[in-house]
Amino acid sequence: MENEFHTQVLVVGAGNAGMSAALAAHQSGVEVIILERAPKEFRGGNSSLTGGMRFPYNSVEDIVPVVTNMSEDQVKRLMGEWQPRYTQADFYDDVMHVTDGQSDPELLEILVREAYPTVRWLRSFGHGWEPRLAGADEADGSLSMNGGGGGLQERNFAICERLGINIHYETRARELLQDNKGGVVGVRALGPGGFVNYRARAVVLSCGGFEGNPEMRARYLGPYWDVVKMRGVPFNTGDGLNMALQIGALPYGSWSSCHASPQDLNRPVYSLPGLAKGAWNRYVYPFSVMVDVNGQRFVDEGEDFRRLTYAKMGRMILAQRGRMAFQILDAKAREHKVYPKHYDARATRVEASTLESLAEKLGVNSAGLVRTVKGFNAAVQPGKYDPLVRDGKTTAGISPPKSNWALPIDKPPFEGFPVCCAITFSFGGLRINSKAQVIHTLDRPVPGLYAAGEMVGGLWHWSYPSGGGMMAGAVFGKIAGSNAAAQCKD
Ligand SMILES: Cc1cc2nc3c(=O)[nH]c(=O)nc-3n(C[C@H](O)[C@H](O)[C@H](O)COP(=O)(O)OP(=O)(O)OC[C@H]3O[C@@H](n4cnc5c(N)ncnc54)[C@H](O)[C@@H]3O)c2cc1C
Repeated sequence: MENEFHTQVLVVGAGNAGMSAALAAHQSGVEVIILERAPKEFRGGNSSLTGGMRFPYNSVEDIVPVVTNMSEDQVKRLMGEWQPRYTQADFYDDVMHVTDGQSDPELLEILVREAYPTVRWLRSFGHGWEPRLAGADEADGSLSMNGGGGGLQERNFAICERLGINIHYETRARELLQDNKGGVVGVRALGPGGFVNYRARAVVLSCGGFEGNPEMRARYLGPYWDVVKMRGVPFNTGDGLNMALQIGALPYGSWSSCHASPQDLNRPVYSLPGLAKGAWNRYVYPFSVMVDVNGQRFVDEGEDFRRLTYAKMGRMILAQRGRMAFQILDAKAREHKVYPKHYDARATRVEASTLESLAEKLGVNSAGLVRTVKGFNAAVQPGKYDPLVRDGKTTAGISPPKSNWALPIDKPPFEGFPVCCAITFSFGGLRINSKAQVIHTLDRPVPGLYAAGEMVGGLWHWSYPSGGGMMAGAVFGKIAGSNAAAQCKD
């Protein structure tokens, strides 16, 4: 006979979205069980590999109560120097800007409105944030969680333990259980001992996108996406999406695009919680010229700050021959201190005193690289270079242009970094309403079914602003958990 568990709210997936849902449901006074596919030692999901959350604040006074390990004076000085305010309108506009106006306005309104109250709510559980020190790579409109996403998630696990919220590890949700009216009444899952039915009044799906599933990547994202490396955990294989689609949930958002960024060519094929955060990110490209194996440029490296372009940059690299690219810099980049901190530790890196020899060491067409750099250098326009602002120091007469931070590549030694594309997470998801209820293709909520985190479609299209995923996961996780709990009391 199959095992059976009963609870009021069942949460599928113990990432930041699922944890937020579980805490909100528990706070509303109902019993909660969480299913987590990963073994306990690798728990945390992609959430545990993150750094920051993007949220709006009207003044540095708003930041003070959420920063726990700095004095009030330090916070005020740092934030005052760096970004004294980041309003709801700024957040809204940044998302609309990077998504070409495609983000769902209602979901986005909820995100920007609820982000700061949700941060304060998380603070009430003991979470804390810290300002990111301004720098060419780090000044990105979001604040770091204390200990990064790993710290946040470990605190979440400790809180669950303290509150008596049970997490069933190595338990993979496989199918939604329904009553004869189509309402969701639980989940069938495969655990270490075999199949188990979890009966619940409401189910919150928060088990990530399909980035860990090569078949779905090829099906929805297209050629070559099946073979890309992943930045995150291998556990998000689209199970929740497939289970929901199977019972008629409405797919929503951009199923043909994803978050994918430039990564060290030799990075591992995926990451697990506990590894050095960000060690493989190769985000110096705004200050480089980036070329393909023929030595030709293919993208405006300086279109905008990396925080607003990095999520689409992976896709540009994947489209190049050999699915790789090369970031080329000269000695001035070191002088200007534009290298993000992870470049020295593990980077696959080549250095040479001439461009010819750099190209040879990198396996790039030497004549092509020399020709490209010569043309680029001649196209650089005068102006004041400043890596911390959009300096408008551009090129003229070449295509693609470089819109900011254009300096000639002419001072040896030259450095080159081979990079590949790695997927962070998929954008396609389920249609939800303002209560995070999953909408059916019949245009009504599926009774008993809620979704949060990267399973929600509609916010991100084609690109994404850094820090948005964790914030959206917490906001919609909290909404899903509270509404799932409220349903149990009806
Ligand atoms: C390397 C990296 C860095 C990032 N940095 C940032 C950042 O700094 N700021 C930011 O905002 N975003 C960042 N992101 C994006 C961020 O990780 C996501 O937006 C966020 O984690 C999504 O939360 P989630 O809870 O939906 O998914 P996850 O945290 O991935 O959680 C999903 C969970 O579901 C589990 N699961 C999957 N299938 C099943 C199943 N069938 N049954 C049970 N459990 C299942 C998984 O094991 C996992 O634990 C980063 C992503 C990566 C990969």
